[in-house]
Amino acid sequence: MSSRARTSGTTVRASVWTDPGAPLSIEEVWLADPGSGEVGVRVAATAICGSDLAYVDGHWECPGPAVFGHEAAGTVDRLGPGVTDLALGDRVVVTLIRSCGSCRRCMAGTPVGCLGRFALDHRGPLRDGRGSEIGQGLGVGAFAEAVTVHRSQAVQIGPEIDLDVAALLSCGVLTGVGAVRNTARVAPGSFVVVLGAGGVGLNVVQGARLAGAAQVIAVDPDPEKLAAALRLGAGTAVAVGDGVRHAVLAATKGEMADYVFVATAALSAIETGFDLLGRMGTLVLVGMPPSGARVSLDPVTVASAGQRILGSKMGSGLPARDIPALVDLYMEGCLELDGLITARYALEEIDAALESARRGGALRNVIIMEESLIA
Ligand SMILES: [Zn+2]
Ligand SMILES: [Zn+2]
Repeated sequence: MSSRARTSGTTVRASVWTDPGAPLSIEEVWLADPGSGEVGVRVAATAICGSDLAYVDGHWECPGPAVFGHEAAGTVDRLGPGVTDLALGDRVVVTLIRSCGSCRRCMAGTPVGCLGRFALDHRGPLRDGRGSEIGQGLGVGAFAEAVTVHRSQAVQIGPEIDLDVAALLSCGVLTGVGAVRNTARVAPGSFVVVLGAGGVGLNVVQGARLAGAAQVIAVDPDPEKLAAALRLGAGTAVAVGDGVRHAVLAATKGEMADYVFVATAALSAIETGFDLLGRMGTLVLVGMPPSGARVSLDPVTVASAGQRILGSKMGSGLPARDIPALVDLYMEGCLELDGLITARYALEEIDAALESARRGGALRNVIIMEESLIA
């Protein structure tokens, strides 16, 4: 793939991050036109994900300046050479999963582990006024009016779903539902515990309900999130604390959980999750603690009880298969999306939107980039 300097491009408004703790600034930045195998997308809406906050707040390391935002949807507005299966104006969900389609992992059906190399990895598409590179956060950079991404990152969807709602499918919903369906392959009748009922955890709850789990027990410190979990299919919702083990014992008739999904960045939840597992139980790590975190576990129990630990990245998703399937579930009334959006903000209000998400009071806050594209 070409790594030649890109010369043609366009100017877009973007929210530029420089340092943890500093407010984001709205700036005009230069965005390269798509190169070979790439597409340009005019962004309609971008939801704020926990990963955006982890970078903005410095819990995960990233050199500044950078444009974050990766849970996005919009319409195709530029096509790079060789892209023949999308057309200008097509409505797409944009994901951070950049995959080549031909490496060993892609061929095995796990594009989140793609081994391919991409021109955009080598040289991102964003520049400041002096021509210096601005990082393309998580390979998307969608707190901006437009993005340039690899073709594999854009998944076409139909006109039936609004793009602010569809944006949620790109990360939080794909990650949560996919952790259940793809990573863990939860069997009907299972006992499922979900630690953390935020934007991802609530979608684990939805996924567990869709998988036919016999018991779905949601755990969170926030009463509003617990109420949302009950609405979305949890049979039991319990506040973080001493009562959790008792609640799981009661709901599983003493057998404890077949699956515990850790959908929070809180490190203590991983050890709590182990303690809630039954025999042959599976712990699924979905949320990501700060860089460098370590946990301890009892290997004798893991081995003797036949337990498993699975990491789930982006719900082990195949975006081109899973996102249209999620749209279908939404249209059939089987997947809640509208109710996951707490509030909508303009790009200029992004600091307020981030602060609301940081305080934990929001399920998903969505930045509306271009209102006219939404419906
Ligand atoms: Zn995300
Ligand atoms: Zn690949």
